[in-house]
Amino acid sequence: MPGFELFGAEEKKEVQDVLDNGVLMRYGFDPMRNGHYKALELEKDLAKRMQTQYAQVVSSGTAALTVALACAEIGAGDEVIMPTFTFVASFEAILSVGATPILCDIDDTLTLDPKAVKAAITSKTKAIMPVHMCGSMADLKALKAICNQHNLVLLEDACQAIGGSYDGKPLGSYGDLGCFSFDYVKMVTCGEGGGLITNSEKYADRAHKYQDHGHDHVGNDRGAETHPFLGYNYRLSELNAAVGIAQLRKLDHILEVQEKNYTILRNALSVVPEITYRRVPETGVESYAFLSIFLPTEDLARNAHKALGAHGVDACFYWFDNNWHYYKKWEHLLEQKSLGKLSSETKLGLQKNNTSFKASDAWMGRTISCLIKLSWTETEINERATKMIDAIKSVL
Ligand SMILES: *Cc1c(COP(=O)(O)O)cnc(C)c1O
Repeated sequence: MPGFELFGAEEKKEVQDVLDNGVLMRYGFDPMRNGHYKALELEKDLAKRMQTQYAQVVSSGTAALTVALACAEIGAGDEVIMPTFTFVASFEAILSVGATPILCDIDDTLTLDPKAVKAAITSKTKAIMPVHMCGSMADLKALKAICNQHNLVLLEDACQAIGGSYDGKPLGSYGDLGCFSFDYVKMVTCGEGGGLITNSEKYADRAHKYQDHGHDHVGNDRGAETHPFLGYNYRLSELNAAVGIAQLRKLDHILEVQEKNYTILRNALSVVPEITYRRVPETGVESYAFLSIFLPTEDLARNAHKALGAHGVDACFYWFDNNWHYYKKWEHLLEQKSLGKLSSETKLGLQKNNTSFKASDAWMGRTISCLIKLSWTETEINERATKMIDAIKSVL
């Protein structure tokens, strides 16, 4: 998955443009730029590749989620439904706008279960945030129908699935807003960075203002700009954007290599009938960033994960015991360990999460996800497949 595996002359050339003129910020300083507007260029490229009208790049994927929520007018006391299996950024972004993250069960897609989502809706719910974990997507059609019925915003976190698609549309472009991360371990990296895409003129107009202190970006005197609403600073620097331009051009090549490598491994594993696979919703195409498998039981999965390590198969994850990606280890959220005071609305709302998520536990307890790397040679993949089969068979 990581774009950093393909860091080279293309990235250096784009960064050199910025170093040559010395304008490291995206706004202003027009006479010095020699025509280089890297953040703007990355936005144009991102919108084009994702087939949306608008894109806004920001300083991280977490920032992209935060800006998206703010643009959708989500704030104090509002509830946002998010999955139990994701990255901590999901609830951080929701809390940062004053809203309450409401955890919700996943199903065999390893993403939000539409039935559980329906059951989690209250009069305070404002948005549903599916997270397309490990390269594959939620059942977006079902979630969209729920959003339409209850007048909710559909915000796709596509940070781990850039380049995948659903119903012929790039992931992130199906909902009202979609977010990407360009951090160092994602498929496309800026070092640090993020992006949001939308077809809504209203959201796009709010996004460019919100991520730059509420600046209206009218005219070319920053000091004279007005501020129609409160904002923050989530700007992406020109240096980071420059890297992203070169990286995004490699996305289709990355997808091709990942699909090839994933397919070799998956075909090889078919000799072990006890292994089953995560469900990809109908019309969905994965980004092939990970190969996620189910073992028959939690014990077998935990043992298989250990055996994979012992057989020298790196980059396989047993998320169930992971500190960053599964709700059971988010004690800072569940125990409300905030440095400053949380609002009474948030404190009360968060208590809803102190329950068990048995369906999520049942799926995640059985799941192992293996990262698909770009740099493997064919020999290395075949050796890897053999080791994986030996490791898993050794515990069955
Ligand atoms: C990486 C990631 C984020 C956050 O991105 P950063 O750029 O690291 O802030 C959000 N959601 C998911 C699912 C991620 O994997």
